[in-house]
Amino acid sequence: MTVTWEELGWERVAAGVGRCRLPGWDCTAGLVVGAGAVLMIDAGSSLAEGALLRARAEKLTGGRVTHLALTHPHFDHVLGAAAFAGAEVFGAVGVDTVPAEELRADAVRNGLDATAAEEAADALVRPRHLVCGEWTLDLGGGRQVLLANIGPGHTAHDLVVVVPGPPPTVFCGDLVEESGEPQAGPDAVPARWPAALDRLLELGGEDARYVPGHGAVVDAAFVRAQRDALAARFGVSH
Ligand SMILES: [Zn+2]
Repeated sequence: MTVTWEELGWERVAAGVGRCRLPGWDCTAGLVVGAGAVLMIDAGSSLAEGALLRARAEKLTGGRVTHLALTHPHFDHVLGAAAFAGAEVFGAVGVDTVPAEELRADAVRNGLDATAAEEAADALVRPRHLVCGEWTLDLGGGRQVLLANIGPGHTAHDLVVVVPGPPPTVFCGDLVEESGEPQAGPDAVPARWPAALDRLLELGGEDARYVPGHGAVVDAAFVRAQRDALAARFGVSH
């Protein structure tokens, strides 16, 4: 009897590629399976959520999560990182400068249990590999993924993951949101956001499946419309 991705809590997006929508903030975590290597994209909002993701990934793949890519320094995407012991952690250059205290306080403001937030902030794992431009990661078995620092936009440190297809899959972090308006907080760089989405569309192309940080998988037309809406909202020409 074969257990499906769905039965283990994953939505399968393409061959060997999936994502999981976490409860609470509907934050997405992604998974790319290679040969002897497994990449997780984002880590959940707490140590418990990180541990849950790791267990689900290990159950599906039968191996350890060997790589972790963090799309941006917001609590719901990074506070679970310490649950991935031994994984090589990647982030956009500068992501390690955001204070753990800022992540903790933001988590509590957004409703995470105060003890869980403190535990996760104390244990916070910083990426060892900081990506300036693009980084090709070889996961074995002919599976190479591209980590691209295409920001700033949603934050000053936005990293996306492009998995070749067919069809290609693009993990967008919160540069794209489907379940609500893109969230532009005090750390957003609105003037540069539309250009980041232009680059995202260049990297993924017309046929890619775009996985937003929050919400359902979308297509290139959706990303383009969101790009235009952001440009109008923030008064960015071109
Ligand atoms: Zn975010």
